[in-house]
Amino acid sequence: MSLKCSVLKSGYCEQTQGFGGSNNHRGLDLVGKGYTLDDIVSYDDGNVLMSVTGYGNGQGEGVNWRYGNFVKIQHDNGTVCLYAHMEYTSVRVGQRVSKGQVIGRMGNSGNSSGGHLHWEFWSKNDYNSNIDPSPYLAPKEPIVLPKPVERDKNKRQFQVDYNDNLRVRKTPNGEILGILNQGIYDFISTETNGGYEWVKLKDGMYSAITDMSRILEVEKEEVQEDLIDEIEMLNKRIVELEDKLSLFEKQEQEYKYFVAPKEDIYYIKLKKNETLKYLRRD
Ligand SMILES: [Zn+2]
Repeated sequence: MSLKCSVLKSGYCEQTQGFGGSNNHRGLDLVGKGYTLDDIVSYDDGNVLMSVTGYGNGQGEGVNWRYGNFVKIQHDNGTVCLYAHMEYTSVRVGQRVSKGQVIGRMGNSGNSSGGHLHWEFWSKNDYNSNIDPSPYLAPKEPIVLPKPVERDKNKRQFQVDYNDNLRVRKTPNGEILGILNQGIYDFISTETNGGYEWVKLKDGMYSAITDMSRILEVEKEEVQEDLIDEIEMLNKRIVELEDKLSLFEKQEQEYKYFVAPKEDIYYIKLKKNETLKYLRRD
């Protein structure tokens, strides 16, 4: 089954031998898609430390007997890749190479029993620091940073005030993935870490709220709904009170006050057209 492949020009390969195992294999053995030969490309940007060419199968001494024609490249983060058993190499020592640049042709030189690439991945420029290249076989997915969006008061958004400053990290305080330009961006949630408030842009992308960025106000829809409910309730109450008031006014019109002209003042409410007889007791 073909695998996505960061070190062959076609971008695909078949793996014929994995790392480790009973013979303590130091790397991966790869051939081109459909068990063909392919051009070999550099895993990443770097500088060519060694480029050995001109050997055939099983010839040479030492590393050349083992590796045949090979290229060793140191990447900018210090890791080293070694590509062995090439038919020929096409880069020279000291040359700067880019990720994906062809560095030679797959072959059968050195201690090899058929055309293939023997790929080693070292954590530093030390023969004994070789690690399993498997995690690096599939090309890294390109990092796509979020793009600025329109202001939307119903969304959680934050604003970046300056270009070329605000970093995007894989985790709060973690690996830097890129820089956000000036603009407004959506975010999912916030969390506090290392003395900063972080906004989560999406899974695996965080930015700190610094003096170059700020969280924008949200008019939450739930709050609006709550307010609408409350207003409806108050309107109902107003209607109820208006009904009561009009009833009261109606009743009020039907009554008039009678004020008794005596020292002990008292009030009697009378209905319209009602009369009160005030009896003087002599
Ligand atoms: Zn091998």
